[in-house]
Amino acid sequence: MTDKTQTLGFQAEVKQLLHLMIHSLYSNKEIFLRELISNASDALDKLRFEALEQPELLGQQADLDIKVEYDTEAGTVTVRDSGIGMTREEVIANLGTIAKSGTSEFLQGLTGDRKKDAQLIGQFGVGFYSAFIVADRVQVNTRSVHAGVDEGVSWESDGEGEFSIAPVKREQRGTEVILHLKADEKEFANGFRLRSLVRKYSDHIAFPVMMVKEGKDKAKAEFESVNSATALWTRSRSEIKDEEYNEFYKHISHDVEQPLTWSHNRVEGKREYTSLLYVPSRAPFDLWNRESPRGLKLYVQRVFIMDNAEQFLPLYLRFIRGVLDSSDLPLNVSRELLQSNPVVESMRTAVTKRALDMLAKLARDDKEKYQDFWGEFGQVLKEGTVEDPANSEAISGLLRFATTHGSDETQDQSLADYVSRMKEGQEHIYYVVADSHHVARNS
Ligand code: ADP
Ligand code: MG
Repeated sequence: MTDKTQTLGFQAEVKQLLHLMIHSLYSNKEIFLRELISNASDALDKLRFEALEQPELLGQQADLDIKVEYDTEAGTVTVRDSGIGMTREEVIANLGTIAKSGTSEFLQGLTGDRKKDAQLIGQFGVGFYSAFIVADRVQVNTRSVHAGVDEGVSWESDGEGEFSIAPVKREQRGTEVILHLKADEKEFANGFRLRSLVRKYSDHIAFPVMMVKEGKDKAKAEFESVNSATALWTRSRSEIKDEEYNEFYKHISHDVEQPLTWSHNRVEGKREYTSLLYVPSRAPFDLWNRESPRGLKLYVQRVFIMDNAEQFLPLYLRFIRGVLDSSDLPLNVSRELLQSNPVVESMRTAVTKRALDMLAKLARDDKEKYQDFWGEFGQVLKEGTVEDPANSEAISGLLRFATTHGSDETQDQSLADYVSRMKEGQEHIYYVVADSHHVARNS
């Protein structure tokens, strides 16, 4: 604490979220590490992107990596990155408020039932605040790559309702998060435990996650990489395990649940790109907000370019998450440039087709999962029949309806199902549109 320390209150939503998280997610507390490493990786991505234009930003400190350290005696775990860092304003906005759309809907959706709420929080994304599941005090020291050595920022909180913030001198750019573990969570300050968590949840992170070699004199601090540190989508499908696909999905989507299915493809020839598309298991809170960010994470030759590149999928497929890595687009591509670009146009056509194929495959291979999908996203997919005439045939094959054949209102009949049951000589399909199945039956 210095005389320049200021104490500020968390936004009311943050307080609510913190309280909930601590009480609902204790059975899955180890995810805090994944969240902190995920943030570190995002910060490194952002720095690498800015350094494309301004290589001098990397300066004397060219290493882009993540370090996980622990101190058993002090009961601390530290996650440190050499990424973009944060200014004072950014710290206050990012670690004091929740800017996400759908926050109030989310909070209203909570029931008080721990299990259900835990699931909801999972969907909402736990993020940085998950540190407080295992820590009763969290310190963040950070310096933005755009700030001087004297313009570092130190943030600290016990997760109760307030945080303090003070200027610090910081030689290195980037961020370190120090967790002071709760008395009954000290088990996390253990090299074996941390290593196995890094491998389990963060192996796919494209930057090295470094830890001090075990058994070595700690003062000498000889670091080694614990993860495989290659971008997952660049590896071949046959060598990627389902768990790895699942964890990668959670990293890019900020979802805690598993995806329903995915499709990973490398295209070579006239255009060269890799796409990895996922269907989430649950609709996000802001599915019906047309302004909500959507789209894929865009990379060019493995360098992160932007989140929410919406130009590669039509609006009716806005629930799809994933990564697109192009070899044809220039590294300095901007949102404006994506607007009217023939490369983007042809990728959009192909990626849209891939997404529809993935859904058709799911419908073929796993009826039950497809029904889950239809329940969550069917309404959105229907928009496609109007929005995308070029693919209307593929889309109509994906639609499901309630019929008089079934006895309840489940929409589980495809057009093909219906046609296969048509009586000999039947030339027409009769349908009614109504507010409910019950009303339709009685009309
Ligand atoms: P999300 O990652 O979904 O945006 P988080 O709660 O995990 O949400 O993090 C909130 C924000 O805090 C991030 O969007 C980012 O701007 C900032 N942040 C968190 N950790 C770091 C970090 N290590 N370096 C730079 N910024 C960070
Ligand atoms: Mg995060």
